[in-house]
Amino acid sequence: MKLAILSRAPQAYSTKRLRAAAEQRGHTVKVLNTLRFAIDLTADEPDLQFRGRRLSDYDAILPRIGNSITYFGTAVVRQFEQMDVYTPNTANGIVNSRDKLRANQILSRHGIAMPATAFVRNRADVRPAIEQVGGAPVVIKLLEGTQGIGVILAPTVKVAEAIIETLHSTKQNVLIQSFVSESKGRDIRALVVGDRVVAAMRRVANGDEFRSNVHRGGTVEPVELDPAYEAAAVRSAQIMGLRVAGVDMLEGNDGPLVMEVNSSPGLQGIEEATKLDVAGAIIDYIGNQVAFPEIDVRQR
Ligand code: ADP
Repeated sequence: MKLAILSRAPQAYSTKRLRAAAEQRGHTVKVLNTLRFAIDLTADEPDLQFRGRRLSDYDAILPRIGNSITYFGTAVVRQFEQMDVYTPNTANGIVNSRDKLRANQILSRHGIAMPATAFVRNRADVRPAIEQVGGAPVVIKLLEGTQGIGVILAPTVKVAEAIIETLHSTKQNVLIQSFVSESKGRDIRALVVGDRVVAAMRRVANGDEFRSNVHRGGTVEPVELDPAYEAAAVRSAQIMGLRVAGVDMLEGNDGPLVMEVNSSPGLQGIEEATKLDVAGAIIDYIGNQVAFPEIDVRQR
């Protein structure tokens, strides 16, 4: 197949691994800078230009859209979809998963277990919302945060109220979430490709830090997933419309609690922790979908 990886980081570990995996399997692969596309809405048929020239035909794309270019990046992905080029992650899937609140709403509607979460804006509604999710200590999250930045553990209701009020006064939206203390600074990242988890790791926070992000000094170890965790990860990715996703889960007393579904999961941490060929699994999946397209029941 002829595959385009949409990425602004050709030298990043994940991009290089995906490109190498595609080449190894005899595919033609190009890394195209997402921001160099021009969406052409003048012609009768949907079309795209790249660096000022008409784009040649591709069988599939693999979008790796960074947070900072979600709007333009998903517009490009949507254009490819309209041109009937296969993509494992749709523009809608990427947009829905990017917004923590929207993702929470969609997943909870489908019965996925998550930490109790509330979203309010008026000052008078803050205290009842904190009580609603189980009281202090409580986790406060900036809606647009990544890499653990903007995730705060407030020890008391008073401190929580003060933090939320401060953030609201600077026009920031925040989620109020129950603190899953039994997770003890650990979380699970499951890499979903198609209908299965191809690799999983546990991230462990550094010292007394409760956030297990590697950017916050967390360490990683491979983990054999319990079937309940596998099922939660695969279902969450499917509900979000993502065939390639990194699903983050806390280990709750009653099983997995899904926190986030990531549409451009990094491959370095998980490949190094598990020694598995995750890039190869992703390319194999896309190659299979191009050769033997799954029939979408909605189109029948
Ligand atoms: P980001 O998207 O910035 O990584 P997350 O929502 O994944 O933000 O939170 C960062 C980390 O904080 C998680 O990996 C987890 O270790 C910890 N964490 C987040 N939410 C909770 C919670 N409700 N209870 C306990 N720990 C949490």
